[in-house]
Amino acid sequence: MPQPTAVIITLGCRLNQADSAQIAEQLREHGFRLGEARDQADLIVINSCTVTGEAGRKTRQAARSARRRCPAALIAVVGCDPQVARQFWDREPAADLVLGNREKHRLIEHLPSALGGSIGERDTSESDAALWPRGRRAAGSPPADGRSGEAAVGHYPHRTRANLKVQEGCDFFCSYCIVPHARGEPRSHPLEAVLEEAHGLLGRGHRELVLTGVNLGLYRDRDCDLADLLTELSKIDRDFRLRLSSVEPGPIIPRLLEAIKRQPKICRFLHMPLQYGANRILRAMNRRYTVEEYGELARQAVATIPGLCLGTDIIVGFPGEDEAAFEQCLATVDELAFGNLHIFRYSPRPGTPAAGLSGAVAGGLAEERYRCLRRLASRKEGEFARGQIGEELHVLIEAPTPRKSGNGWSDNYLRVCLGTLPKGLQGQFARARIRAVGRGRQVEGTIET
Ligand code: SF4
Repeated sequence: MPQPTAVIITLGCRLNQADSAQIAEQLREHGFRLGEARDQADLIVINSCTVTGEAGRKTRQAARSARRRCPAALIAVVGCDPQVARQFWDREPAADLVLGNREKHRLIEHLPSALGGSIGERDTSESDAALWPRGRRAAGSPPADGRSGEAAVGHYPHRTRANLKVQEGCDFFCSYCIVPHARGEPRSHPLEAVLEEAHGLLGRGHRELVLTGVNLGLYRDRDCDLADLLTELSKIDRDFRLRLSSVEPGPIIPRLLEAIKRQPKICRFLHMPLQYGANRILRAMNRRYTVEEYGELARQAVATIPGLCLGTDIIVGFPGEDEAAFEQCLATVDELAFGNLHIFRYSPRPGTPAAGLSGAVAGGLAEERYRCLRRLASRKEGEFARGQIGEELHVLIEAPTPRKSGNGWSDNYLRVCLGTLPKGLQGQFARARIRAVGRGRQVEGTIET
């Protein structure tokens, strides 16, 4: 029988990328060849997103387009959108197999035997059995599926960086966010299993591991929190580095800063979502801090770790945003030393409390405010990049020639252009002296010998 081909389409966030890498590895283990050409696939997996109404629409579009381009393929729609829009997917003819987040890691068990699995029927199960790929187990106890301490190692072809998913779920219920419904309650991957997966990824040649979770700061395994986990990971005796993805502002931040300060393997990067720079809107968003509390953590971060890149997210146009709130938000953002900003336009997500709030901001005004904040964000990013001129940065080289994203990334999250390099340097670390700034977060540098 010819080897079946699978194509995985990943929509949405870094966590979905991590989940897709796990699915890819399972498919490979079961004899699939992973490809990119949808029209030649036997199986198309759409790992969906539902974070906005638009993301859900794109998932549906992806499924229908896959069906048109490859009518013979088995199309599996998995993840967040089926988890919250089950009734829609149960009726959608473009999908042969529909699995929510709690079942998507058992995809292989649901495939027809011709494709390497055992079950050939449409399945819309949402059992709680698979809270984690290969089973969440109590620390120190044998894995639920009987494998002796084996961790699922994600498949990231051709990448110097790999995501290391350590946490899943959130119970913060920010008023605009559907994620707690899509991803469920917080739960953490046991320390031993995280270490095992880290070893596996490093053994495959990845040089940077990005710790990923829905609400990473909630990581907890017995008395081990996220800061302890970072410290344990950095003890692995290999030449690599660790990066944190987004962490909510909260009591874990000072402990993380201490870990970053102590351990050179941990990148000087902290992405701490602010979401808005005025307290009235933060309350309406059901965020758990004030602007003042956030500011204190942000100032502590840049004071504790010289050269740290502080990143954040801001949502513009939330219901009830008036001129005074927006001005305050601009002032807050301007005051803090951000080096990386993601600005989003608010869009109501059906099913969230914020979707029912009055005081919607008119589209034109929201757009104007978005552009205004975007300009401020570019200025802040430029200031941070200029502040690095003359510094020697730790760069992970990703390509021999500078592409759109330069040759590689510094530990403090700048795109670094180093000119044309010998091919053998790909995937290597280098010390680079920064000479000039380019566009956005791009800088130019030369390798120090
Ligand atoms: S912290 Fe808030 S925004 Fe983040 S996933 Fe949880 S509910 Fe959503």
